[in-house]
Amino acid sequence: MPRYDAIVVGAGHAGLACAAELGGRKVLLLEGRESVVQKARGCLGLGLPVGARLEARGDELVLPEHHLAVPGGVRGLIHRLELRGHRERAFLPLETPRVVVDERRLKGAWLRRLEASGIEVQLGNPVRELQTDGREARVRADVEHQARVVVGADGVHGPVAQHVNPRREKLGVLFQREVEVDRLEVGRGTLMLHLLEAGRWFLAMGFEDRCLASVVELLGPHGVPGDLDRLLADRIERLGGRRRLATRAAVVRLLAPAQHAYRANVLAAGDGLATFGFASLTGALAGGHLAGRAAGRFLAGSSFALPDYQQRWRQATGQGRLERLRWLAPLVGRLDPDRLDRLLRLARRERSQDLHPWAAAVPRWLTGLLLEPRA
Ligand SMILES: Cc1cc2nc3c(=O)[nH]c(=O)nc-3n(C[C@H](O)[C@H](O)[C@H](O)COP(=O)(O)OP(=O)(O)OC[C@H]3O[C@@H](n4cnc5c(N)ncnc54)[C@H](O)[C@@H]3O)c2cc1C
Repeated sequence: MPRYDAIVVGAGHAGLACAAELGGRKVLLLEGRESVVQKARGCLGLGLPVGARLEARGDELVLPEHHLAVPGGVRGLIHRLELRGHRERAFLPLETPRVVVDERRLKGAWLRRLEASGIEVQLGNPVRELQTDGREARVRADVEHQARVVVGADGVHGPVAQHVNPRREKLGVLFQREVEVDRLEVGRGTLMLHLLEAGRWFLAMGFEDRCLASVVELLGPHGVPGDLDRLLADRIERLGGRRRLATRAAVVRLLAPAQHAYRANVLAAGDGLATFGFASLTGALAGGHLAGRAAGRFLAGSSFALPDYQQRWRQATGQGRLERLRWLAPLVGRLDPDRLDRLLRLARRERSQDLHPWAAAVPRWLTGLLLEPRA
């Protein structure tokens, strides 16, 4: 049976950033798909507090934490989003300019780095099963592999993420939507999302009032389509959406923290651990980076490495705060979405000194969590 120091499962942003931290070790990166690039996904460098920094220098994308410079990695800098259907348009202004990343070039740069460090990458080889006795882990893909430590960067539904947090689904998936984006265009400081039929909607960003709809949508009970979905579908239909070409799924859990960042010698990173505000490109890069460093320290014999990873990840994502709020999830799930929407809109006015009495009853930290996930 092939034996490795570490196996990283999933070659998304988290897995690539994680594997890059393990240079010099015998590492296998297993990716289920034939390609590491997922069209129209994860293109915006959202400036999260815990995220990796994405700096634009001309058309070069620089990730200082990773000492990675990607020529041509910047597709553009944007100041607003434009959702464009067949007939209508909607605009979402951004508070600060964002880098739009060329995912192909960024992932290409990662792969070149991994190759230079001697890390073995296998595409089109999905992991089906994972077993561990705490000392050695066995990962079954096309054949069975063995490793001292495994990092699951296999996204929200991946088997390793499930292994680390087996009860997570039961805590409630509060947001599961599909987005139908034909193509993305960047021009004159605007990112244009050309929508096709958008029966379901994904918008994990908290910008201005329009985002409230998607934030309220996040609070739908266990991802079951409700009234608000119809409302949103109508809105998008008015944008002129019709045909269905591409479907992508995203799951963001709010008020349902992952709780565990590792289990025995298996770590999770990226979207597999994501909570709202952390499910992003920069969050995945930062999480992968943390997990890779922790796995490296674990391999070097540190018994503190994995508890330390758990602690750092909790701090970075505000898990403690989410756990304290979990009791709210069933209550919020039962609220009338229109009322909640209105309440959140009113609460948001707090900053503009136009505070509604209702909003005053909502603690600042709660509105902050719901409305300003990027803080
Ligand atoms: C439609 C959409 C648009 C988005 N837009 C943005 C955006 O504009 N800006 C932003 O910051 N974020 C955005 N995000 C979020 C961002 O893309 C994710 O948070 C980020 O890519 C997560 O990276 P990850 O590496 O954790 O997971 P993923 O990118 O999901 O990577 C997981 C990888 O694991 C692989 N895998 C899964 N199961 C297995 C298995 N059994 N065996 C082997 N491999 C497996 C998958 O094929 C995949 O390559 C978007 C997400 C979606 C869905």
